[in-house]
Amino acid sequence: MFNLILFGPPGSGKGTQSDRLVEKYGLKHLSTGNLLRQEINDKTELGLAAKNYIDSGKLVPDQVVIGMVDSFFEQHKQARGFLFDGFPRTAAQAEALDNLLASKQTAIATVIALDVSEEELVKRLLNRGKSSGRSDDADETVIRKRFAVYLAETSPVATHYKDAGKFELIPGEGTVDQIFESLCLIIDAKI
Ligand code: ATP
Ligand code: MG
Repeated sequence: MFNLILFGPPGSGKGTQSDRLVEKYGLKHLSTGNLLRQEINDKTELGLAAKNYIDSGKLVPDQVVIGMVDSFFEQHKQARGFLFDGFPRTAAQAEALDNLLASKQTAIATVIALDVSEEELVKRLLNRGKSSGRSDDADETVIRKRFAVYLAETSPVATHYKDAGKFELIPGEGTVDQIFESLCLIIDAKI
């Protein structure tokens, strides 16, 4: 299996690049944000519980997200690899993921982080909020809250994988094609 984490702050372009990468490399896309939004649309119990966290820019509790990832993994065991997008978002999630993969005799090959300035991120998210229907993108206060959460809770994930020698940072500003090319260069060297 080849397992990749695409890492970066809200609005850094993880979703856009993931769509292309899963197609090129035949990986299964695991986006916890997409899974949670699906649960909300389906009005499941999990979705109802997650909605308030998401709308206020907070993280959904670890046990909920980890449970969701476990069951997604079980459903796609035969995949040749996974692209994790928006997960892990806390140190506890990173540990849970490492343990899950180890129990399947596999591991994270690499983490690639997209580097984008906060000014550019706010612009992109407010712009996406106009058309996406995502309430968490429509309000600048919620967007700023998500950055604060990213700094406090998610940046330790970068440290976790840096310590493991599995972390690469690339520029996340430029054209979608340029960024995709930088991603492919790193992946081609490891796959
Ligand atoms: P990007 O624009 O780069 O794709 P994003 O931050 O806009 O990133 P999502 O990854 O879709 O969007 O996440 C949206 C919201 O869903 C988060 O703000 C959070 O509330 C919740 N969420 C998603 N993934 C997780 C996770 N792993 N742990 C906890 N909460 C999560
Ligand atoms: Mg996303």
